[in-house]
Amino acid sequence: MRTFIALLTFLATLVSPYAYAKPPNVLVSIAPLHSIVSAVTEGVFTPSLLIPAGQSPHHLSLAPSDAQRLHKADFILWVGPSLENYLVRPLDNLSRAPVVLALEHVASLTILPQRETIEWPEHTHSHDEHSDHAHLHEHDIDLLTSDPHLWLSPKNAAQIAQVVSEHLVLLDPENSLRYLKNTQDFQARLKQVDTNISNVLSDIKTMPYMVFHDGYQYFEQYYGLNSVGAMHLHPDSSLSVKRAHQIRDIIQGRAAVCIFKEPQFPDAMITNLLDGVAIKVGVLDPLGANIEPGPSGYFSLLEQLSTNLNACLNDPTSQEDRSE
Ligand SMILES: [Zn+2]
Repeated sequence: MRTFIALLTFLATLVSPYAYAKPPNVLVSIAPLHSIVSAVTEGVFTPSLLIPAGQSPHHLSLAPSDAQRLHKADFILWVGPSLENYLVRPLDNLSRAPVVLALEHVASLTILPQRETIEWPEHTHSHDEHSDHAHLHEHDIDLLTSDPHLWLSPKNAAQIAQVVSEHLVLLDPENSLRYLKNTQDFQARLKQVDTNISNVLSDIKTMPYMVFHDGYQYFEQYYGLNSVGAMHLHPDSSLSVKRAHQIRDIIQGRAAVCIFKEPQFPDAMITNLLDGVAIKVGVLDPLGANIEPGPSGYFSLLEQLSTNLNACLNDPTSQEDRSE
């Protein structure tokens, strides 16, 4: 029997052009994706994370030590050029040819267009009507104008686990059953977490709020939230006087209850802007800077987003406070 299994394994190695004798060296660009991959590979190996969640992947450049890690990887998972422009050239210049998967090119994921203005029109449709909501793929849109925060849709997360497991089965056929089982478990737990979050958010769906940067569209659309605008389309550390006026107008015009800052950017940017404006300040983090990377990290990220939205928006007195 043992010989038979060894033979099967050997044959699998011959059949698959990808196969390695030991688990592949997998490098993942950002923490939320790393957590999804960790769930798929649990019990087999731990993938490595390129950029810690405390750092924003927008406008980054690659340290020489990180460039080395790219060279050692067998499989590299990233969002793609619209988020991680800093990886485009290093990936082109690799001397080896690892499997490189850019999620924004994966046809089974829902890709939304990047919004072009910092104030957004009111959403009139509900969560349930989103099944055939217009979404975009390569043939529709220049990828540089797609919204890169694709991991914040639970539906995309289930697909990411799926597509990652399919690649791992080819790279490491010996552990394929484990990858497939882990993927099913991840998707089942995701369903539960998704249901809980829908319940938590049901009371605050209509509450208007603003965010620091336009990083939450996938989450907002999926759960049908009433986000009215962002301080920045792309995170930026400076704010013009004209833009500051525009933001204050949106806050007042749309009666925004709460504005959410991000741990990756300095607080002073929001406190200066809000001097004299009656609005609560919350925290949203699209990456999960305070979350331990690992198999449960993605669920913690979604739960933290819903908890923080709820904490700032689910307060019946906040509307009255503002009208004074
Ligand atoms: Zn972002």
